[in-house]
Amino acid sequence: MTTALFPGTFDPFTNGHLDIIQRASGLFDHLIIGVYAHPIKTLLLSCEERVALVKEAVREFPNVSVESYDGLTVEFARAKGAQVLLRGLRVIADFELEFQMALMNRALAAEIETVCLMTTYKYYFLSSSLVKEVAKLGGDISGMVPPHVEAALKAKIKELDEKGEDRIRIISLRE
Ligand code: ADP
Repeated sequence: MTTALFPGTFDPFTNGHLDIIQRASGLFDHLIIGVYAHPIKTLLLSCEERVALVKEAVREFPNVSVESYDGLTVEFARAKGAQVLLRGLRVIADFELEFQMALMNRALAAEIETVCLMTTYKYYFLSSSLVKEVAKLGGDISGMVPPHVEAALKAKIKELDEKGEDRIRIISLRE
């Protein structure tokens, strides 16, 4: 039985993530979505919010589960018995980063293989940071994220607006 771990920040979950999960769920016996709880980057959504949104998005896949984690991704993979780390590739810039990360993870855990799936053409441009930026500026993000994520994002932005918090500072442009 092959278990794969798809780690990420998912701030927020997008249709690009969903596409990778849909395709990978047919390749592996069990796919665990690992929501990285406390990344070094600035977040819009809390860990609990991100986990809840991912869970709702993958409900229809019986062999996909969702958990949050902290610490080294390879340690979480080991703890879960995952033999594969799954990542998605979009632009050339992704490749360099993923390549570096895959080699580092292999140095840390030689028994775990990194497998990258190429994005589907229509999601080539899609990233969580761009979605946040477009949503923040009032643009239409339907078609980029599942409907429940769109609703949650709008509500969060409204909530921050009402609190008078500086969304520019909260929403980091960089992933
Ligand atoms: P991280 O902070 O680990 O990069 P993300 O949530 O941004 O977390 O991304 C998780 C994974 O999903 C990464 O491997 C990323 O390349 C992949 N990914 C994100 N958006 C897309 C997309 N549109 N198409 C394919 N893969 C994607």
